[in-house]
Amino acid sequence: MKGDLLRHKMPAQPPEERINNFREVALGYTPELALAEAERCLNCKDPLCMKGCPVGVHIPRFIAHIRAGELDDAAKTVLSDNNLPAVCGRVCPQENQCEKYCIRREKLGGSVAIGALERYVADHAAAAGIKPVAVPAKGAKAAVVGTGPASLSCAADLAKAGVAVTMYEALHKAGGVLVYGIPEFRLPKDIVAREVENLRAMGVTVLTDMVVGKTVMLDELLAEYDCVFVGTGAGLPSFLHVKGENLSGVSSANEFLTRVNLMKAYEKSSATPVQRGKKVAVVGAGNVAMDAARTARRLGAEVTLVYRRSRAEMPARAEEVGHAEEEGIRFELLTNPVEILGENGAVTGMRCVRMQLGEPDASGRRRPVPVEGSEFDIACDEVIVALGTTPNPIIKRSFPALATTPKGTIVADENGKTSVERLYAGGDAMTGAATVILAMGAGKRSARAMIEELKACGKL
Ligand SMILES: Cc1cc2nc3c(=O)[nH]c(=O)nc-3n(C[C@H](O)[C@H](O)[C@H](O)COP(=O)(O)OP(=O)(O)OC[C@H]3O[C@@H](n4cnc5c(N)ncnc54)[C@H](O)[C@@H]3O)c2cc1C
Repeated sequence: MKGDLLRHKMPAQPPEERINNFREVALGYTPELALAEAERCLNCKDPLCMKGCPVGVHIPRFIAHIRAGELDDAAKTVLSDNNLPAVCGRVCPQENQCEKYCIRREKLGGSVAIGALERYVADHAAAAGIKPVAVPAKGAKAAVVGTGPASLSCAADLAKAGVAVTMYEALHKAGGVLVYGIPEFRLPKDIVAREVENLRAMGVTVLTDMVVGKTVMLDELLAEYDCVFVGTGAGLPSFLHVKGENLSGVSSANEFLTRVNLMKAYEKSSATPVQRGKKVAVVGAGNVAMDAARTARRLGAEVTLVYRRSRAEMPARAEEVGHAEEEGIRFELLTNPVEILGENGAVTGMRCVRMQLGEPDASGRRRPVPVEGSEFDIACDEVIVALGTTPNPIIKRSFPALATTPKGTIVADENGKTSVERLYAGGDAMTGAATVILAMGAGKRSARAMIEELKACGKL
């Protein structure tokens, strides 16, 4: 009986090996494991898993195709709703989405490993050359600003509807956080490059080194195109605002990860330097903090992760927390930095206080409060701050007509319609730092609304 079967674990590089390289940690299911895991799906009449997927992948259908050995059909099923399945299969927090609602979760051996199966199918699609189909442009033109998951997803759906799309990316490489933030050992960059190539093959033009608000202005784009989507993300890092934060050896996780991921600073031949502390303290406990900690570990450091709440409140994906622990990252929980210590301008340590959890705050999580007289020092020569990010103000500053919140996020309705006609927005730029799949969902909703608008005015 299917209920007796436990969820199948995905093979991974052993921790002692992987801390010495940047290759992918999770190795993916073998065909045997994929089949065995697919057989655990109960094919529920009312598939709750689908309610947890922001892009609406038909999960039971693609799993049924795997069970029947119809991998091409499984791939086509996934690709019809998800423009980036190889990415989602690797980095989505499935435990809080589709897998959270799987009825096997509690008592039947654990949720079906939907993410691992999606990855398996997406990798099959790439190997078999199954791609989204190009549709001839029908005359309407759209500009898409940014090339992160929100923009990639929006551009793909627009192109599938016959809209001629031009993407404008500030950096020299397309992919957003998928290329500059998430490390190679979690998401190999050739996978992101492949998705961008698929878009190009669909006729999408991808322009890099184009900072909208500097190189080209939003009002120029609105004049040239029928509609515009802004998916510029939330790349501006927040800091601790404690004494010592300007010392040499303190950086934001975004800068550290960009140097390593995008500029390949870990390779000897790279022209970009990166701090290589021997003892690194990382502040925060989200995916960004885990990525920074695990990257510093691979650069040879002893790493301590400092977080002011307890393990239960850690926002990172469960898999990343587990992998970080296996790799020897030390967790100092219920701990908050109050000062970064230094000598001769360089970091020598971090003064911290112990915290305890009090009453719930506005986010519903219990508020951490300092324990009096609990100060202690952590010795370190590098501090990486991973406390969240907000949207870069460049778009708003260069185009004041666009309504934004006091936090700098773009104000838009559920379809991404902003305060400016023909201008849409979505992803982290609208919600603040969130997840890949939520950004993709937003990109898809905006694409749908843009297509409606283009049809309504006879452009499509
Ligand atoms: C290190 C790290 C790890 C993460 N791990 C996970 C994870 O495991 N799972 C998960 O679901 N989420 C994760 N996230 C969050 C996730 O990556 C983001 O929520 C998602 O990428 C947001 O997508 P987006 O398209 O809105 O923006 P982004 O991915 O940020 O892309 C925005 C793009 O716009 C470009 N841009 C910005 N301003 C301009 C401008 N003025 N002109 C032109 N281009 C511009 C940027 O260069 C960038 O390429 C992680 C984030 C980070 C930083």
